[in-house]
Amino acid sequence: MSSSNSQVITCKAVVCWGEGEPLKVEDIEVEPPKSDEVRVKMLYASICHTDLLCSKAFPLPLFPRVLGHEGVGVVESVGEEVKEVKEGDVVIPTYIGECKECENCTSGVSNLCLKYPLIINGLMLDGSSRMSIRGQNLYHLFTCSTWSEYMVINAYYVLKLDPSIANFSHASFLSCGFSTGFGAAWKEFNVENGSSVAVVNGARMQGAAKIIGVDKNKWKKEKGEVFGMTDFINPSESDKSVSELIKEITNGMGVDCSFECTGVATLANEALESTKLGKGKAVIIGASNDGSMPIGVLSLLLGRSLKGSIFGGLKTKSDLPIILDKYKNKEFQLDELLTHEVQMEDINKAIELLKEPDCVKVLIKI
Ligand SMILES: [Zn+2]
Ligand SMILES: [Zn+2]
Repeated sequence: MSSSNSQVITCKAVVCWGEGEPLKVEDIEVEPPKSDEVRVKMLYASICHTDLLCSKAFPLPLFPRVLGHEGVGVVESVGEEVKEVKEGDVVIPTYIGECKECENCTSGVSNLCLKYPLIINGLMLDGSSRMSIRGQNLYHLFTCSTWSEYMVINAYYVLKLDPSIANFSHASFLSCGFSTGFGAAWKEFNVENGSSVAVVNGARMQGAAKIIGVDKNKWKKEKGEVFGMTDFINPSESDKSVSELIKEITNGMGVDCSFECTGVATLANEALESTKLGKGKAVIIGASNDGSMPIGVLSLLLGRSLKGSIFGGLKTKSDLPIILDKYKNKEFQLDELLTHEVQMEDINKAIELLKEPDCVKVLIKI
C-alpha cells in the first residue's frame, strides 16, 4: 500500500507554547507519514486530565507541543510498509502498542509493550517530529497529538473501528478515559461477583456487587449510577476520612480493591487504607503533578498492595477490540459521559468547562 499523498499539509492545531500559557489554535505543518506510519485526519477529539497535566510540563517541559491523546479520525495516507490499515479507515489512536512478542507482551501480566512503548519524549518512535510551526519543531503528545486537523502516528498505535458503527464521535473516549477505567476493573483487579470496589474521583466502573464512587462533585453520583455504581460518598459532606467512610458502608471491612484516578498522594493513601486487611489492593490509574508520594507503611505491612497501571492494563491489540465490540453492541452508554461539545477554536473555553460541576467529558469537533 503506498501513500496517496506525500505532501506536507498545513492545517489548524491547538499549540501549547509553555507551562500555564493559554492554548492557541495555529496553522502548523504536518509531514507525510514515514514507511511504518499513517497520517490521520481527525474528526473528533476529547479532553483527558493528562492533557492538562502535560500543558503544565508533566512529566517533562516539552514546548511548543500539540496536545490531545483521545480522538477518532480517518486515515488520510499511509507509509509504504503499512499493512494494518488503509486510506479511508476510521481509527482511534492508542498511546501504547502491542507487539505480542516482547517479554512484557508474552508475560500475561503487563500491557507495557517494550517494542511499542508509552513514549514520553514527545517524539515519534524514530526520535523525530512530524509537526512543525513556522520552521520550529512541535512536540507530539505520547504517540499522538489529536487536537489537530491532521496528525501522524505509527501504524502499530492505531486501531480500526468497525465501519458499521453509526456514530463515531463517542469512540474518542475509548482512546483513554473510558477504557482506562473499564480496563482497570477487568485487567488489574479481576472484578468478580460479590467483590466490592471503590473508585476515588472517577465514577466509571462496572462489574462488582458493590461499587462505591467517591467524589466531591455530587453530580457524579447520577453519572456513576448509569455505569453500575451502587453507593456514593461525597467526602466534603463529612469530617471523616474517605477510608473511614468506605469502611462504614462495608461492615468495617473495607473493599477488595480501590481505584484511584487522580494520582494525588493523600488520596492514594486513602485508597490503600480503604481496602481489606491482609488482601486489599489499591491501583493508581491517574497521574498528578505529585512527583512522589509518601505511603503509610502500616497500611502496606498489613498485607495490602499498591500498584500503578497505564491504560487500565489493557493490551491494545488483544483487549481493546473486545471493548470496541461491546461499544458497537451498545453494552455501555458512552454518550452518557458526554456533557459538552465544542469546536477546536474554543479549546480554552473547553478547559474552563472542565471546572463546571456537571462536566464529565468534553468532545472537541475538529
Ligand atoms: Zn510487546
Ligand atoms: Zn488520558
